[in-house]
Amino acid sequence: MENKITGHTRLAALFATPIRHSVSPMIHNTAFQALGIDAVYLAFEVGTEGLKQAIDSIKNLDMMGANLSMPNKILAVEYMDELSEAARLIGAVNTITNDQGKLTGHNTDGTGFMRSLQDIQVEIIGKKMTVIGAGGAATAIIVQAALDGVKEITVYNRKDDFYDKIKEKLAYISENTTCTITLNDLSDETSLAKDVAESALLLNATGVGMKPLQDQTPIQDFSIIRPDLAVCDVIYTPRETEFLKQARLRGAKTKNGLGMLLYQGAAAFEKWTGQEMPIEIVKPIIE
Ligand code: NAD
Repeated sequence: MENKITGHTRLAALFATPIRHSVSPMIHNTAFQALGIDAVYLAFEVGTEGLKQAIDSIKNLDMMGANLSMPNKILAVEYMDELSEAARLIGAVNTITNDQGKLTGHNTDGTGFMRSLQDIQVEIIGKKMTVIGAGGAATAIIVQAALDGVKEITVYNRKDDFYDKIKEKLAYISENTTCTITLNDLSDETSLAKDVAESALLLNATGVGMKPLQDQTPIQDFSIIRPDLAVCDVIYTPRETEFLKQARLRGAKTKNGLGMLLYQGAAAFEKWTGQEMPIEIVKPIIE
């Protein structure tokens, strides 16, 4: 490693399990080195049972902060001194900052997605979007989109055991923002077609399209895709899901989940260092 560790070197970390596959250490250490910041980012195998101690160590070791993955993201909420508005509404923390012992929980997943839209020159502020799925990734995006000023979000989820709970959660987000958010049954294709026709963006925020569902698509009728619709997927393995491919073949602008991954890291980096991540240097690592 080129980075010269000194007595001043500070630590940022990822607390997650499983963890060895994570690209976050590469992203952050490359950015630290590129900008000459005396810091390192390490991955620690931390499950829910060790999370409180790990979070305490942010204060005890005067770390810059940490990132978390599921399910630590949800559990960490109760260990924070403060929460950002996005983290509070989402109910999950993916980034912790340490301001002289005061820990603030942020959620940069939604910010990451919103920023990734700039890569395809898509503007959705003041407009309507349709989201398929209502799990962790979807909720982070819905909250950030609502906070950023998206006017209306129609969410489509399968009618499973979580459906009523999701409805309550979305109503809560809607009441706390200026965005109208409604939940619909994913099997209602007529309603979906109408909402997509009124939307500037259609997003797949389910795991449908990646292993073991790599041959499946979250919608079946692709005639609802039009060339002036932006179509995004949170999935980045494969780089192009069948959903994105079908949308691209119908002329839509498309974007996979790599941008969301990259920019959620960039937002965390900027909170820790006060500096912009050098995207052009970091991007090739994950592509
Ligand atoms: P989750 O389990 O919290 O939610 C999954 C959602 O998908 C739920 O709404 C569920 O109802 C829906 N779903 C699952 N199987 C379905 C099916 N067969 N048909 C219809 N709907 C179905 O998961 P999550 O954490 O939100 O992750 C969802 C996807 O987002 C995963 O593919 C994950 O890899 C990806 N993700 C990407 C990023 C990124 O940075 N790009 C970040 C987080 C998650």
